[in-house]
Amino acid sequence: MNKLRCFDEKQIETINRATILAEELISDYFKISFSEWKRYRYDIKTLETLKPEEITHEAFAQIVKYVCNPEMKPRGSLHADYYKICLQDHVILRALSREKELPLFPLAAYIVTHELIHVVRFSKFLQRFLVTPEEQEKEEALVHTLTHKLLHDVKIPQMASVLNIYVRCRNMETFKTAE
Ligand SMILES: [Zn+2]
Repeated sequence: MNKLRCFDEKQIETINRATILAEELISDYFKISFSEWKRYRYDIKTLETLKPEEITHEAFAQIVKYVCNPEMKPRGSLHADYYKICLQDHVILRALSREKELPLFPLAAYIVTHELIHVVRFSKFLQRFLVTPEEQEKEEALVHTLTHKLLHDVKIPQMASVLNIYVRCRNMETFKTAE
């Protein structure tokens, strides 16, 4: 297999900035306190550290649900499940090269915000993880609408273009459960 293109150091930094923004927007919107955030069990990882089964070529991300993360000790958490948001660097970079003028930051902000909304909704039991395709389609439309709502007032160069292009994107993520 050819080596897949990973984010470079500067791009990783951009992902980290997008994550900080997304977490802020979501904790405000869902009224999640700082101490509550710490109980949410998720990580956002990029391609370099993913296991082969966490990689997909079909979507910007793959959310893998681990029933129990062996690397994390239980600490009186509300949520026993652990969600790993696996960003697919190569798919994201391919999309950027298609949209010549598009920088990484607004697209990363869209993707990470969107994926975190899924995780918060799963963790709050507002949505089940594995559902029928019809339910999934409904959930996806709702999560796109929420993502749009959270980001459309944020002053980020080219955010408007990203919202336009991706608000109905059908390849945001795939879902998977792991043992
Ligand atoms: Zn989605």
